Amino acid sequence: MKCFDIFFALLITILSSTLACSPPYLECSNDKPSGNLSKRGTGGLRGDNIQPWPINRPQAGLRVIWFCFASKEDRDKLCNYFYGGLKMWEQQLGGWGSPTSGHSIYFQETFFKETPESMPGPRFCFKDGTWDYEKETGDWNPYVHPDTLMIRLSKKSFWSTVAYRTTNDPGRHALGITDDLDPNKKAMHISYVAHEIGHTMGMVHEHQRKDRDDYVTVNYHNIVNYEQAKTQFLADDKTMDEEGADWLLQTTYTYPKKYDTPAYEFMKPNEGQIGPPTDLLWVDHREPFDLESIMLYHSQAHVQDREKASREQDSCSILKIVKDDHGNRIGLDFVRPNWLPSKGDAAWVKRNYPYQGPQTLPQNPPQDPGSGPAS
Ligand SMILES: [Zn+2]
Repeated sequence: MKCFDIFFALLITILSSTLACSPPYLECSNDKPSGNLSKRGTGGLRGDNIQPWPINRPQAGLRVIWFCFASKEDRDKLCNYFYGGLKMWEQQLGGWGSPTSGHSIYFQETFFKETPESMPGPRFCFKDGTWDYEKETGDWNPYVHPDTLMIRLSKKSFWSTVAYRTTNDPGRHALGITDDLDPNKKAMHISYVAHEIGHTMGMVHEHQRKDRDDYVTVNYHNIVNYEQAKTQFLADDKTMDEEGADWLLQTTYTYPKKYDTPAYEFMKPNEGQIGPPTDLLWVDHREPFDLESIMLYHSQAHVQDREKASREQDSCSILKIVKDDHGNRIGLDFVRPNWLPSKGDAAWVKRNYPYQGPQTLPQNPPQDPGSGPAS
């Protein structure tokens, strides 16, 4: 564990020296050449209602992912974390969308200016004072486009919607950050945000590839609430045997959801598709498995007993398969956390969102809410 402590200390130093949460985020900085990246990374982009983020600034050939914080309180608490997660991607991608970075993604906070000359200020997703955190309702700000990504405090740890949804309801793209943020775990939490930003762009979990069993092994019995879920399932359905319950809890999305165990976060694609039945995604895994991906869970993810799982392989949710030089399996090892997006993750972004230059045919009216009143 020692090397992790040193890594964390380093990460915190890097982040605190580069983090500026000054409103709003306007720069497209750090245009470095991308270098040669191997083609890796796993994503699920296309589904009935789910697509890659569209080009919405055709003159620049960019896909701007506009984001807003739900309210001032959300921004005050989460700004550093979200910008920190963006910074991690920006560094691995060699800057945001441009000819030199080789991709077309650009994150931009919604903002307003009182007058064309005045300093911009952040514009929130909801009209002032209307966002009710408990009820999760509010009046969407009419000056914020409905496809804007909402960043908000969440009771449910860290989560994000995946890719671009073609429906038209406001708040349909959202990224939640736990309301239980611990300043001592800042670097770790920023890394979790970077994982969620991967989902926002359209990535799915590396360990949910159909070929994952060649690289990692998943022990469902150590996953939070799995055994309780199974017991309840067997009690509800007397015709079911243990094997059948395990099979359904591990392969059919609705069962772990119904019985409230995060086993669905480890599920492999069914005929190439993944996710809830109403929201299926085709999984793209043309490139090799990436053990360094930020989208790969570590051995303590969603475990019943975290402390035990940090010491004992038998308590882990996921373990890495160790192979000899000939590819024979010789044992298992912990999957250590990948704190930063990998080269393969960046390659995924570049492959799925390549920079193709200015587009002459506007596909969507550019969304640029950079002026107007402040509500
Ligand atoms: Zn995830």
